[in-house]
Amino acid sequence: MLNENLFDLGTETAFSVLARAGALEKAGCSIINLGIGQPDFSTPDHIVEAGIKALKDGAHGYTPSMGLISLREAVLRDLSSRYGYCPPISRIQITPGGKPVIFMAAMIYGGKDKEIILPDPSFPIYKSSVAYSGAKPITYGLSEKNGFAFDADEILSKITSRTSMIIINSPHNPTGGVTSPLEIKKLVDGLQSYPSITLFSDEIYDRFVFENLPHSLLSYPEIQDRLIILNGWSKTYAMTGWRIGFGIWPEQSVEFADKIGVNYHSCVNAATQHAAQAATTGDQKCVENMRVAFKRRAKLITENLNNITGINCQLPGGAFYAFPNITGLELASDDIQNKLLDHYGVASLAGTAFGDNGEGYLRLSSANSDEFLIKACKIIEELANGQR
Ligand code: PLP
Repeated sequence: MLNENLFDLGTETAFSVLARAGALEKAGCSIINLGIGQPDFSTPDHIVEAGIKALKDGAHGYTPSMGLISLREAVLRDLSSRYGYCPPISRIQITPGGKPVIFMAAMIYGGKDKEIILPDPSFPIYKSSVAYSGAKPITYGLSEKNGFAFDADEILSKITSRTSMIIINSPHNPTGGVTSPLEIKKLVDGLQSYPSITLFSDEIYDRFVFENLPHSLLSYPEIQDRLIILNGWSKTYAMTGWRIGFGIWPEQSVEFADKIGVNYHSCVNAATQHAAQAATTGDQKCVENMRVAFKRRAKLITENLNNITGINCQLPGGAFYAFPNITGLELASDDIQNKLLDHYGVASLAGTAFGDNGEGYLRLSSANSDEFLIKACKIIEELANGQR
């Protein structure tokens, strides 16, 4: 007999679209891939070299389950220098990608009779993990006219006696929205009335903010005893395939996060941890170069999309996604996603892949060359005009 919670598991459409785009390419079609959320840059050479060196030097065995001490110390130094504070390394857990931190948090703070508040649209693994744990996902919206930033009052209005955790994500996937420090402070202040609620801040795109300085929940001492931070190397250093990230856990739950890790993956690949250490301690110019490229492309893709009748696109404040409103095209988001890929050779994701509020939107990753971004927008214009 199967565990009945399995039927509440969702998935990440990005991977099925990636597979479909790959199959079409193999069949000879040319595809512009704006579907998957990964930098189009290669992992910088000095990081690759550190991974190779670690393998040659014999880093072939298990590491401590929470991760190499030297890597956790590097994370601590980096976050302390950028945000003014980081909890001790005993609370920093190195994980195989940032994603497992979501699943673990849902296992630790979810369960029957609990409610977990999360954004819609959002990274689909939030809702999926929460539902699988047996907890009820309660969603809050992100309004387009508010630049897809969250509204602290709306989040606070969703709290009930069953709320155990609130998930926030800024810069945000899929919208590219960035929430202001003022609004974040308002949420933190509001949570002072609810001392048993844990705050989960997904900061995986923190280095890709275009106008203001990156901001972290680590800057608020009043919430540190019940804050989970998700971050990692996948996006910042173009290391999605290496599978490494980290979680910072409250004192109360870190031992359970470690236990789940030991039950599930033991530890992260040793050579990958050495590569991540080189990334964190090495020259950060590679990150700035990517940030500047994503910022330029965000403007480029937004301008090109806004030239299309029936499409309206907000300028993203961070990450590497555009989230155009396509209601003017009078087709469901799913239909546009499928039509664009199958008939026009452009991989994108329907807004509904990120929740019900994503209807009427499309997510386009700007992790592609300027040339292909412009070309993809021209193709979307052809679809909008009913050509082909
Ligand atoms: N959180 C958000 C908002 C993401 O967009 C992603 C990846 O797309 C992740 C977490 C997970 O990243 P990783 O590849 O490190 O598991």
